[in-house]
Amino acid sequence: MKADLFDQRRLLDLQAVDTTLTQLEQRRRRLDADTTAADARRRLQALADRAASLTGDIADLDRDIKRIEQEVELVTKRAAADRDRMASGAAGAKELEGLQSELESLARRQGTLEDDELEFMERREGLEAEAEAARAQSVEAQNAVDDAEAARERALAEIDAETADAESDRVALTVSIPDRLVELYERIHAKQPIAAAELVGRRCGSCRIEKSPADMIPIRQAPIDEVLRCEECGAVLIRTELPSTGSKPSASEEELKKYT
Ligand SMILES: [Zn+2]
Repeated sequence: MKADLFDQRRLLDLQAVDTTLTQLEQRRRRLDADTTAADARRRLQALADRAASLTGDIADLDRDIKRIEQEVELVTKRAAADRDRMASGAAGAKELEGLQSELESLARRQGTLEDDELEFMERREGLEAEAEAARAQSVEAQNAVDDAEAARERALAEIDAETADAESDRVALTVSIPDRLVELYERIHAKQPIAAAELVGRRCGSCRIEKSPADMIPIRQAPIDEVLRCEECGAVLIRTELPSTGSKPSASEEELKKYT
């Protein structure tokens, strides 16, 4: 295939755009695989569950404490009534003995209830402290979720914008390069990431294999507008070390002689 060397060299620009698109795709995949935001959300959910469970335990304790307080009130009322009866002078010796024994048992019951209440209130204090800590951690976890999601959004927007730029560059390039060169490039590019590469010295820029001096003879003798392919990897080999002039150079007889 023959093509102006200037056009051949534009394949390197197309290759650069495609390499950029590949890197953008890799960045997108890395972003998809990044679990920072999901991890932060899971932690936030675990803390919310913990806080809800503590709130339930505290409500249970509050009910127990209320029940104890009601019982203490009953016991206190009963003891007051017993003491009133004893003070009234109306009770006989046997009744007084019974009232005395009931007051002692009521006092013991009140003591037990008050010990229970104290224990429940201490337990409640501990749970309240845990709930407070869980709430504080939830605020931090929510911030972590927000940060991770914002960072992800930013990165995605950046990738989208750069992809759109690269895609429009690609369209512009494929329009400006002769169709058959683009078709050749696309055919190779479908099989391998680097479809067009510079020939640097004797080395192919795609497969990096250095050609032997013997292999270089046909390459050096090829006309300047001959489209060369790497025999190792099939990439279009672009001779960038050839002299070039202006924006659309065509090889002069002199340049060709120098080169061959
Ligand atoms: Zn090669």
